Amino acid sequence: MKFRGGYNILLEGKPGRLIETLAEPEVLYIPLRSRRFEFGELCVEDGRRVNGGDVLSRDPNNYAVPLLAPRAGIVRLNVAKGHIVLEDISKTEFAYTEHGRLPHIVRQMGEAGIKRYKLLELGAWQFFSDAYTGSLPDPLGTPQAVIVSTVSLEPFVARGDVQLQERLLDFTRGLEHLQSLLEYQPMYLVMPDIGSDFAIQVRRHIRGYAWAKLIEIPLKYPFDNSNILARHLRLKAEAGPVWFVRTEGLLAVDRALTLSKPCLSRIISLGGPGVQMPIHIKVMPGYPMEAIGAKCVSSGPVRMLNGGVLTGVPVGPETLGLDVECRGLTVVGEHTERQFLGFARPGWDRSCYAACYLSALRKKFRERLTTAMRGERRPCVSCNFCEEVCPAGIMPYLLHKYLYRDLIDEVQEARIDLCVECGLCSYVCPSKIELRKQFIEAKDLIEAEKEQMRQEQLRQEQLQREEEARRKATQEVQD
Ligand code: SF4
Ligand code: SF4
Repeated sequence: MKFRGGYNILLEGKPGRLIETLAEPEVLYIPLRSRRFEFGELCVEDGRRVNGGDVLSRDPNNYAVPLLAPRAGIVRLNVAKGHIVLEDISKTEFAYTEHGRLPHIVRQMGEAGIKRYKLLELGAWQFFSDAYTGSLPDPLGTPQAVIVSTVSLEPFVARGDVQLQERLLDFTRGLEHLQSLLEYQPMYLVMPDIGSDFAIQVRRHIRGYAWAKLIEIPLKYPFDNSNILARHLRLKAEAGPVWFVRTEGLLAVDRALTLSKPCLSRIISLGGPGVQMPIHIKVMPGYPMEAIGAKCVSSGPVRMLNGGVLTGVPVGPETLGLDVECRGLTVVGEHTERQFLGFARPGWDRSCYAACYLSALRKKFRERLTTAMRGERRPCVSCNFCEEVCPAGIMPYLLHKYLYRDLIDEVQEARIDLCVECGLCSYVCPSKIELRKQFIEAKDLIEAEKEQMRQEQLRQEQLQREEEARRKATQEVQD
């Protein structure tokens, strides 16, 4: 596959392969919201004792995907706004009873239907997304293809090779389970195109799987992006959903379908320049942020991002625990004061996309990034860096100029819809223009306008139908 654009950011604080299991906490603060989910349908009462794996709440807008209790404990609903709190916790797990709840699925879809239902109920389905939209696919729907990726390239989210340590057999069994849900749809397995021990091992394990097509990609951000991968595989968005799942999701599939057990913990990265000992940690959703923050002993003020440095969102003081979709926490130093003679040091202690004069004197190095993102904002200087790195083949500076002048039609013609929100354009922009943020807002606006037009059209059609019915009724009375 031939990719365009992309760029690898060298950042201090890359988490090693070591996985530390954090101590069991006394209380869990489970957020009712994550990037895609809003668990608004409560299934438990205040003061009730639950077992690990019991359903606490569901997201009614996402196929009733459940929020599972990561541990046994007593539910508190009114202690922290936006969270379910579990107190007095212990490790007692629930017992999954098969076929019990949805007999119509057995009738309609047989064994495959039961497996899909199990994936949903045991928390494995949450790891799936539609490659094009990023939303949760219909667990009972039929995909046109499935993409399984072992690659995670954004600095820093938990990497596939770390997740797979000692678990290659579980992974390959997960692949087999996933394949058993499909009929003839292709499955693509995305691997790094390097000869590392890990890559060689995975290849050896899947040698007999003719149904899994191996796709090798260069290790350059954001070539692991599901949307970019689907486009390169020439899968058409209008031909139906493309399921996308990463290593951790496949391990959850194996756990659900081999052991009938819920996936209650996850491995996430804890890295970035603000962390003294960047590592991977094994935690459960709801783990107190305060306890995780205490591990990032840093000399100055820091900002914690839920996710990687390019697409992560700041963790505010209102977030008390880890949410169910977190793949990594990145900590960067808070920019508090202007650096002395900072303007005269480009490229010396700051990495730079442009080969500017001081960086030419140094070998490649990992940058100590802060929230200042290396400078103050300026107007676009038409340097074209954003276009060079954009993996979507669009012109970010042009979109920015159209948006600046509110030319929404031109923005659409310039194919803002192809933006995969990777954030590289914002990162390399020497003027520090927040291009990614602008594009996300513009896409939301365009989508909202389209939805409004759709609703208006439906309303007009309804009015026409009512008018027609009234006319017919009057005609009948007259006849
Ligand atoms: S325009 Fe979109 S896809 Fe292109 S670099 Fe920027 S954020 Fe990434
Ligand atoms: S990288 Fe920034 S300054 Fe350069 S062309 Fe793009 S928007 Fe303009």
